[in-house]
Amino acid sequence: MSEAFFPGSFDPPTLGHINIIKRAAKLYKKFHVVIASNPSKQSLFSAQERYELLVELTKPFGNVEVHIWNDLIVSFAKKQNVSLMIRGVRALADFEYEFELAMTNKLLYPELEILFMPTDPKYFVLRSSAIKEIAQFGGNIETMVPKTVAKAILEKMKI
Ligand code: ADP
Repeated sequence: MSEAFFPGSFDPPTLGHINIIKRAAKLYKKFHVVIASNPSKQSLFSAQERYELLVELTKPFGNVEVHIWNDLIVSFAKKQNVSLMIRGVRALADFEYEFELAMTNKLLYPELEILFMPTDPKYFVLRSSAIKEIAQFGGNIETMVPKTVAKAILEKMKI
């Protein structure tokens, strides 16, 4: 397979996400990062803002295309004709959730293949929701997100 995709909310993109993108993009000719935009879910950054951050962050990799997607993830796979999905896993708890999600997606689209990539140990504890909370309380997030993202979070929260 020469193409794969990596879906997520990326609200905001963290060093953990970027690490997965960097490692996985090396394995494929073309790699798609898919921002799953769910208008009914409250997010810190709009899909467009996340798109702009991710385009900038993935430019150096050369073969990454970023998309905003408002539909089921399996419809991205069908419409773009990319049937290999990458998911990152941190702890065992992630695996349980990811495994169930994989089963659901497989039911919806049996041709879809899903590969799990374990996190780099440096990013084991990184979670977008926790990062937002830390930032809200004025904690230092510089080791957790790329510089541009840290700046965007601080601006957004007016810290
Ligand atoms: P989260 O809010 O948990 O960061 P996302 O929906 O943005 O979740 O995650 C998209 C994908 O990235 C998922 O497969 C998730 O498991 C993975 N991921 C998130 N953080 C990390 C990390 N620190 N290391 C590896 N994979 C990660």
